[in-house]
This record gives sequence, C-alpha cells and structure tokens, in this order.
Amino acid sequence: MRIAIIGGGIAGMAAAFELEKARTAGNPVEYTLFESRERLGGSLSSEIVNGTLIEQGPDSFLTEKPAAADLCRELGLGGELLPSNDAARKTYIVVGNRLVALPDGLMFLVPTKLIPTALTRLFSISTKVRMALELLHPPRPTGLPDEAVADLVRRHFGQEAVDRLADPLLSGIYGGDSAQLSARTVLPGLVKMESEYGSLTRGMLAAHAKMRGKAKESTKKNGTAQAGAKPAARAIFTSLRGGMQQLINALIARLDPAALRLSTPVSAIERSGDGWVVKAGDKAERYDAVIVSSPAWAAGVMLAPVDAALSEELSAIPYSSSITVNLVYDEGKLGRLPDGFGFLVPAVEGRAMLAATFVHRKFLGRTPPGKAVIRAFLGGMKNEALLTETDEALVAMVRRDLNEILGEKTISLALEPEYAQVARWRRAMAQYAVGHQDRTARIAARVAALPGLRLAGNAYDGIGIPDCIRLGRLAARELTAAQ
Ligand SMILES: Cc1cc2nc3c(=O)[nH]c(=O)nc-3n(C[C@H](O)[C@H](O)[C@H](O)COP(=O)(O)OP(=O)(O)OC[C@H]3O[C@@H](n4cnc5c(N)ncnc54)[C@H](O)[C@@H]3O)c2cc1C
Repeated sequence: MRIAIIGGGIAGMAAAFELEKARTAGNPVEYTLFESRERLGGSLSSEIVNGTLIEQGPDSFLTEKPAAADLCRELGLGGELLPSNDAARKTYIVVGNRLVALPDGLMFLVPTKLIPTALTRLFSISTKVRMALELLHPPRPTGLPDEAVADLVRRHFGQEAVDRLADPLLSGIYGGDSAQLSARTVLPGLVKMESEYGSLTRGMLAAHAKMRGKAKESTKKNGTAQAGAKPAARAIFTSLRGGMQQLINALIARLDPAALRLSTPVSAIERSGDGWVVKAGDKAERYDAVIVSSPAWAAGVMLAPVDAALSEELSAIPYSSSITVNLVYDEGKLGRLPDGFGFLVPAVEGRAMLAATFVHRKFLGRTPPGKAVIRAFLGGMKNEALLTETDEALVAMVRRDLNEILGEKTISLALEPEYAQVARWRRAMAQYAVGHQDRTARIAARVAALPGLRLAGNAYDGIGIPDCIRLGRLAARELTAAQ
C-alpha cells in the first residue's frame, strides 16, 4: 500500500512514524511525506543559542494527555522529558499597569474559593457580588445551540470576568477570541455542569469533591494511606531538555530519508480509480491512500477537485496567527522579576503583547545561570496586522510593554537584550469557532465517503501537540489496518 502524507508538522510526522513502524515490522507499506517548507516540524521549532534554549513555537505539552510523552518514550527520549517547575507556578493578569495574581481556587475560569475571590484585586465589587450570586444560577436546558465562550462566562460572572479572565486565558491557549470560540468544544465540562447544576461554582466544587473521593479510594487501595505517603503531583506541563526540536529530530532520525520530500507543496489531490493522485510541482503520483495533515485551509484548496462541499467546510475553519519574541537578558542587569511563570495581557488593555513567559523559571536547566529569558506572544485573532511589522519594530514594542508593565526598575528601556529573536506563525492555530463540532461531524461524514482519505492536525479534535500526535497516529493505523 502506498500512502502519501501531506504536511510535515507534528501530526504528519506522527503519522509517518506509525507507517515507518509498520514498514519495518514487515507490512507492505510505503509512504511519502510532502512538506512545503524546507524543514519538518511545522510549528515545533527550537534552537540553542549560546547555551540558552530558545523555543520559537510551543514550549511544552499538557502532561495529562499522554500521547506526546508516550511518543517521546517510544523514540528513546524518556530520560529527556522535563516537567514544568510547578513549585514556582504563578500567573498574573495585567490590570492597568499592574500585575494581579490569579486568585487561588480558580478552576477553568470558575472561582471556587470564597476568601481569595473576595480579596482579589482582579475583580470589582460588583463582579464579586455577581460571583457570589452565581451560586443561585438555574440550570440551562440541554439541547440548546452552541454558543461563544464569552456568552457562557458573561451569563454567569459578567463582562469583567470575560475581559480579565476568559479572554486572556483563552488567547494564551488558542491565540483566540472568547467571543468566537465554541463553548461546547473548548469548555465542554462547563457546558455539562451548567445543565446539571446551574451554578458553575457549585458544579466545579461537586466535581472536585468527587475527584478527591476517588483519589482517597485509590490511595486506600494502594495502601499508601497507612504509610502516610502522599502521591506525587504530576507537573502540569512537560517539555524536553533539548526543546521541542528534540522530538522533531528524533522523529526524523527514525523516518526513511527517501520518503521525505521537503520544499514540495502539494497543489491538488485527485481521485483516480480506487486510488489517489497527488500533484506537486509538475509531478503527479499515484497513491492508494492519503493523509492530509496540512492546516485545514490548505487541505481545503487541495481537496477542491475531489469534493467541493468538503473543501468549503475545511476552508471555513478560521485560523489565527501569532508571533513569539524571545529576549535573553543578563539577569544581574535586570531588577527582580515578579515570582512565577509570567503574565497574560487582556485585550482591553490595548497592548500589542498578549502574554509573557519567564522561560528560565518555567523549565529549569535550559538557560545558563545568570541569564533570564522572557518570551512574549503577540498577534492573535484581534491583531493579525502585526505580522507585517519588522523584527526591530516588534522587539521595540515588546521592550516598551515590558518596561511599562514591570516598571523601569525591573526592566529599563535603556537595557539592551543580549539576544532577541522573532518568529512568525502565520495562520497556524485553528480556532474552534461556535458550531465547530457540527462542522467536524459534517467533515467526518464527507471524508468517510472517500475511501483511503484521512485528515489529521490541529483543526479537528484538539489544538495541542498530544492531540495532533494522537490523530496522526490514528490515521496511519486505520489505513494500515484496512489493508
Ligand atoms: C507560537 C505557538 C505556540 C504554541 N504553544 C503550544 C504549547 O505550548 N503546547 C501545545 O501543546 N501546543 C502549542 N501550540 C499548538 C501546536 O504547536 C500546534 O497546534 C501543532 O504543532 C500543530 O501541528 P500540525 O501538524 O497540526 O500543524 P502544523 O505544525 O501547522 O504543520 C502543518 C504543516 O503542513 C505544511 N503544509 C501546508 N500546506 C502544505 C502543502 N500544500 N503541501 C505540503 N505541506 C503543506 C506546513 O508547512 C506545515 O509544516 C502552539 C502553537 C504556536 C504557533
């Protein structure tokens, strides 16, 4: 069976890895991986500059989703997995020019602790009163249409909670806009809680109590309760000592070099008998099956000759762009940075910057002693125009924002970073807009009618690295199983 994989990001590479495993196990499988750029990895890209690890794209993955760490272990990188330094985890929101720590007890945008919520400077008195009254919120009937995250949060906690909590937290994850993101897709747990409990706070507390009960039960079963030992908490994020590029390099080392076609954009895919023809440059090659792991907007163009309705659905999935700016400083020349991993900037603050991470704190051992790395995010759905700015202008914007937010004593405008790097990610993050699940169901139905076609990538069932890996591997397994 000859399989074409189109798009060499993490989803396509995970698919290729699965096919390579099948091939070396003796299955009659051949594959070709087409990638339009001159490098593999898509959004995953890091490099080491003077001993400092610089992540241009993602810096880690969620530990609770096992697909990424499992792949790393299979590739022999188990010893390289690096947990986030959660002892120092603290995140701030910028309000005016001040940093306000997220209040203790906040779970998925829902306040669950009375005193920290009452005392926080993040919300006004009227929002706090509203948060208390939320306990009386009536259940919402099931079966209503999907809605935007902003609408769900506003109904429960008011506009300020949208502006200072939902919007910055979600733009940190999706580069997205809470007024567009689908509540049903992005916050399915909260939608369920609302229909069951009415109040999200009551729902969250009940879920938490259930989880604690389960944890106690399993501790008892394992006998650790008698020994008084507490199970070690897992870090929220996991990365690799050598950065996300280490995963890409390990994958490349396992793939068949003859199967990799870099700088080869696919222009169209066509049906031919019971197989497929893949067109790239002036070549047209026949395959038995195709995994399209490019962004959905590119998949939409390629698949137009096969199924116009499928092509339209794929093209209608919105994408956001983002920019990362890494600044390396001599730590001795900076004032003391606030404790924690960094801060988020609500859009209502009107700044270019969406978020900043204190990289040397989030993952230890990847920055030489005496150096501090600040990584800023810009762009997102509301600020695409920034992509056209020069590197110098973007670095200047970030330095000005950092100076105004952290103060002249902490980071003077006169202080030059030792190193600055800008990375642009154009239309890289799919946005799960209202109605996303209905759209992906329609897409799945059309794909099911086209034998040998599979889709993978961040546009469908999870934006993060683990979900992209899961979908890529699944696509490959389904095709080889169907032989
Ligand atoms: C700045 C940034 C930070 C992020 N941070 C995190 C994080 O910390 N944790 C996390 O889990 N996720 C994070 N993400 C999200 C995650 O990195 C992506 O969702 C994931 O890497 C997407 O993988 P993919 O394979 O679906 O797509 P991509 O990485 O976009 O790969 C698609 C590939 O298809 C290629 N292609 C496009 N058109 C064609 C064509 N016509 N022919 C051939 N090839 C084509 C592209 O060149 C690209 O290489 C972040 C994303 C960005 C941009």
